[in-house]
Amino acid sequence: LQEKLEDAFRKLRGTAKISESNIADAMKDIRMALLEADVDFTVTKDLIKAVTETAQGEDVLRTVNPGQMIVKIFHDELVKLLGGGATELDLSPPQRILMVGLNGAGKTTTSAKLASWLKKQGKRPLLIALDLYRPAAITQLQVLGQQLGVPVCVPPAGETDPVKATRAALKWLDEQGGGVAIFDTAGRQEVDDELLTQLKQVRDLVQPSETLLVADAATGQQAVAVASKFNETVTLSGLVMTKLDGDARGGALLSMRQVTGCPVKFIGVGEKVEQLEVFHPDRMAQRILGMGDIVTLVEKAAEEIDEKQAMSMMRRFEENKFDFTDFLNQLKFMKRLGPLEGILGMLPGMGALKNMPGVDDKRLKHTEAIILSMTPKERSKPEILNGSRRKRIANGSGRPVVEVNQLVQQFEMMKKLMGNKGMLSQLAGGM
Ligand code: GDP
Ligand code: MG
Repeated sequence: LQEKLEDAFRKLRGTAKISESNIADAMKDIRMALLEADVDFTVTKDLIKAVTETAQGEDVLRTVNPGQMIVKIFHDELVKLLGGGATELDLSPPQRILMVGLNGAGKTTTSAKLASWLKKQGKRPLLIALDLYRPAAITQLQVLGQQLGVPVCVPPAGETDPVKATRAALKWLDEQGGGVAIFDTAGRQEVDDELLTQLKQVRDLVQPSETLLVADAATGQQAVAVASKFNETVTLSGLVMTKLDGDARGGALLSMRQVTGCPVKFIGVGEKVEQLEVFHPDRMAQRILGMGDIVTLVEKAAEEIDEKQAMSMMRRFEENKFDFTDFLNQLKFMKRLGPLEGILGMLPGMGALKNMPGVDDKRLKHTEAIILSMTPKERSKPEILNGSRRKRIANGSGRPVVEVNQLVQQFEMMKKLMGNKGMLSQLAGGM
C-alpha cells in the first residue's frame, strides 16, 4: 500500500499545477492502493468521496501547492475515520478486561503486554487464564506472569467448563483484594457457535469494564468479519491490532472500526512484552499513507499563501505601500514554515533578506519582537520613528536601540530594492 500511495502522491506532488482531471487520476490510484491493502470497498469509496469533496470545497486547485493540500486532506480524513484522538482504557470498577479473539491473534501475548503497561502506570494488574481449549496457553500465561511479577490465576486441574473456571477465577479475584484483572479467554481457528456461546456466558459472569477484541493485522478483511461477529455476541468496547511490526499496513483497521464503531485502543508492534503502543490515529494515518515526515511538509503547505495573496503583496511593494505590518505577517508565516533556509526565496519581500548579513531564525524572533512593540501607526508609517520612539520600542521589545535602528535601516533598504522594477521581476521569477 505504501508504495502505491506514494506513487499516487508523487504524481500529485510532482505537478506544479494540477487540474481536476489529474486529481481524479490520483484518486483512482489511491482507490486501488486502499483496496489492495484490505480496506473495505465501501470504506474506500466513502473516503475517496470525502477527500474529493473537501478538496473541492476548500478550493484546493487555486492554492500554491494543491498536491500537498490533498495529501493533508487525505491524512485528516483518515484520522477522522480512525477515531480522532487516542481513546483511553476504561478502568472504572470492576476493573475487568476481557480479551477475546481467534487463536493466534495475540490474546495471551497482549494480556501480558497490557499487564506490563498497567504496572508502569502504577496499577496492580492480575492475569487470569481462561483458555481451557489449549492447555499450553495456561502455561504460556503463567510464564509471562512470572517474568512480569504479576499474579496469575490458573483454572482448577482438569476443568473443562469455561463457566465453572470463570466462577473459580472470580473467587480468586475476590481474595486478591483489588487490581485490574485481565481475562485471557479461549479462541478458535474461526468463529463458531460454541465459541460465541461460551464467551457470552463468560462475559455475563465477568461483567467486564472493557471487552477488547485482539486481531492480527495480517488477516486482513477476515478480521473485519470476525470483529463484526464478536461485536454482535459480546459487545466489544475496543480493538487491539497486533503484528503491526510486519508488512501489514493495517488497512483492515479502518473497516473494523467502521463495522464495530469501537475505538482501537492499542497496537502490538512486536513479540516482546513491552512492544505494545497506545493507539494514535494520526500516527496510524501516517503509517497508512506511508508519509513519514511528508506530513509535516503537508501541514506547512496547508498554510501556504495562495497565489492571489502573494500577488497582492507584490503589488504593495510596487506601490511602495509595504509596511511593518506586512513585514510582520510575512515573518509570522515564515515562522510556521520552519527552518529559514530555502524558504526565504519563496516569499515576496523576503527573498532580498536572504543575502543580508545576520539573518537567522533567532534574529527573526528579535525582529518580530521589535515590530510587535511598534504602534500600528509606526508600523504603517516607519518615517515617524524618531529617537524617542525607537528608544521606547527598544525598551518594549527588550532589544538594544542599535538593533531597532538596524531593523529600520534594513527595512528602508529592502523597500528601495523591492520598489525597483528590475528586482521585482527577478524575485517573481525566483518564486
Ligand atoms: P493467542 O492464541 O490469541 O493467545 O495468541 P498468542 O498471544 O499466543 O500469540 C500468537 C503468536 O503471535 C505468538 O507467537 C506471539 O509471539 C505472536 N505475536 C503476538 N503479538 C504480536 C505482535 O504484536 N507482533 C509480532 N511480531 N508477533 C506477535
Ligand atoms: Mg492464548
